[in-house]
Amino acid sequence: MSKTYDAQVFYDDLVRAGHIIPVGVDGAFGRGAVFESILEGFNALVSRIALADKAEQLTFPPVINRQILERVHYLDNFPHLCGAVHSFFGNELESRRLADTANKGGDWSGMLKMTQVTLSPAACYPLYPTITGTLPAQGRLFSMLHWVYRHEPSPEPTRMQSFRVREMVRAGKAEQVVEWRDLWLQRGVDILAGLGLPAKSDVASDPFFGRGGKVLGQSQKEQRLKFEVLVPVISAENPTALCSFNFHQEHFGSTFDIRTSDGNTANTACLGFGLERITMALLKEHGLDPGKWPSIIQQQLWP
Ligand code: ZN
Repeated sequence: MSKTYDAQVFYDDLVRAGHIIPVGVDGAFGRGAVFESILEGFNALVSRIALADKAEQLTFPPVINRQILERVHYLDNFPHLCGAVHSFFGNELESRRLADTANKGGDWSGMLKMTQVTLSPAACYPLYPTITGTLPAQGRLFSMLHWVYRHEPSPEPTRMQSFRVREMVRAGKAEQVVEWRDLWLQRGVDILAGLGLPAKSDVASDPFFGRGGKVLGQSQKEQRLKFEVLVPVISAENPTALCSFNFHQEHFGSTFDIRTSDGNTANTACLGFGLERITMALLKEHGLDPGKWPSIIQQQLWP
C-alpha cells in the first residue's frame, strides 16, 4: 500500500480528529487527550527500555539562563531560532503607554527589555553547567523530558515552535560516550521499527545560520557528529527526523570545565526523541484512531 503525503491534508486530519487544537499561531497548537496518551505511552516505552541504564532523572524549566547560551556561542550559529524572553521594566507612566500601544495593536516591543532568560532551545543545555567538576570513572548518564523552543513558525505540523524532547545525555571519556551513542542509535531504530515505522538512520547536520553555516554543516557531516533516525511523515522524499544523536566531543566539557576521572576534558553526547513528531508518525502510519492500531503496537504503548 503506497501512502500519500501532504502536510496540509495531514494537519487538517489531525485537527478534525481532535489530536491537535489550533491556537492561531503557526507551529504552536494544543494537544488532545488521545494524542497525549500516545506521547506518554511512547515516553514510558523508552523509560522501560532505558531502565537498566540507571540514568539520573532531572527536570529543568522551559526557560534557561541566557548566560548559558552566551557561553556556548548559541547565537553564532542559531540566532534565527532563539526565543529570548523580554519584559517590562518601566514606571507607571511608561506602563500606560505600553498598554495603550498594545491595545491599539501597535508595536510595543521597543518598550521591553531582556530578562535573564531565554526559552530553552535544546533539552540538554541546562544540564551542562550543573555538572562542572570531575566525573566518576564510569562517567554519568542523565535522562530528561523538556519543552524546547525554536523560532521556526510553519504550517507544517511536524515543524513546531514548541515541543517536547525526551533527552538522554552521556558524559565521560570519548570511548564511553561513543559506545553509548552507538548503542542508542541502534535502539532508536529498533524502538521505532518495533512500532511499525519504516525507520532509517543517517548522518545529519544542524540548521546553522547563513552562508558560513553551510560550511559548518558540511564539516559536522564529514566528522559524523550528528545522526538522525528518520521516518516519512509529511514527505516520502524528505523523511522527518524523529530522534537525533549529537556527539559534542569536548565542546561542553571545555566550556563548563567537566573533567574525567583521569583529569582530561570530558566528552559528551546526547540523544533526543521528538515526542510530538513520533506521535504524528504513528498517527500517519497506523491511522488517526489508535483503538484500531495493530495490537502488537497497542501493547507496547499501553501495556
Ligand atoms: Zn541535546
